[in-house]
Amino acid sequence: MGARVARIRRYGNRCLRRRARSVDPNDQRTRELLDILWATLRAEGGVGLAAPQIDRDCRVVVVIDPDRPPGKQRIDLVNPVILETFGPRVSFEEGCLSFPGLYTHVWRPQGAVVEFDGPTGRQSLRDEGLAARIIQHEVDHLDGVLFIDHLPVWKKLLLPPRLLMFVMFEVWQKISGKGKGDR
Ligand SMILES: [Zn+2]
Repeated sequence: MGARVARIRRYGNRCLRRRARSVDPNDQRTRELLDILWATLRAEGGVGLAAPQIDRDCRVVVVIDPDRPPGKQRIDLVNPVILETFGPRVSFEEGCLSFPGLYTHVWRPQGAVVEFDGPTGRQSLRDEGLAARIIQHEVDHLDGVLFIDHLPVWKKLLLPPRLLMFVMFEVWQKISGKGKGDR
């Protein structure tokens, strides 16, 4: 039986701004969550998905590494921590399933070392290809950080009006202290 496909939450939903909680890697529910994330990612056709994007308060991420051969592209990251980034900061066009239709260049360090709970305990992965970028984007989601947060102000002002409205709303929440306690 295939896992069910979850509904992806869009920008403006508060679940995208929360800091997610660690999970027990041996809990059956963590396995089930991974299955749901994979089913959803396949259905939506992205390269990465984080649990908060389907309104699950869990530090779980799935990533497709397009640089690996087919059949070996799947990366499950349970309780991932980026230990280190390295190399030059590079600009690359990113999209996000929570921002349908929005593609924009974002600057990030080229390489990353991520540590996570694997089948045999904590393990780490070092990458400086596309996976390093996708992993940084997805791990950001676990702390309520979105790719548009990395854009300079002038570029934020060029966002489509509907998104810009949400950006302004979040700025207003921050200034007025109304967003407190959400993260
Ligand atoms: Zn995203």
